Amino acid sequence: MKCPCSSGNSYNDCCQPFLENKQNAPTALQLMRSRYTAFTQANINYLMKTHHISTRPIKEKSDIENWAKSVKWMGLTIINSDKGQTNDNEGMVEFKALFMENGQLQAIHEKSLFRKEKGMWHYVSGQ
Ligand SMILES: [Zn+2]
Repeated sequence: MKCPCSSGNSYNDCCQPFLENKQNAPTALQLMRSRYTAFTQANINYLMKTHHISTRPIKEKSDIENWAKSVKWMGLTIINSDKGQTNDNEGMVEFKALFMENGQLQAIHEKSLFRKEKGMWHYVSGQ
């Protein structure tokens, strides 16, 4: 099975080890991809775990889960990234994620900030 994150790799060589908590994503980009895949699976626990504690949307947990289930995820395109490598503590990833909602194709285009703490990358915020 190809990984839902559009990397072209198979799921077990891509996002699966992260989503199954066997490994931490080594780069901000891989964390970004795994969070997209988590959205396609409505894996809310992974989305919360990888969301930085300072901005974690705990109150919206079930809303996010329901929304992720209600849309059809169409693919991820990475547009740009800066830092976020294994020896960095911060990184930026610009991406476009496509999904169908109520029969209409929609896109999230975002520049996301990631921060590494205790060896684990977290999503902090987006613009
Ligand atoms: Zn993947």
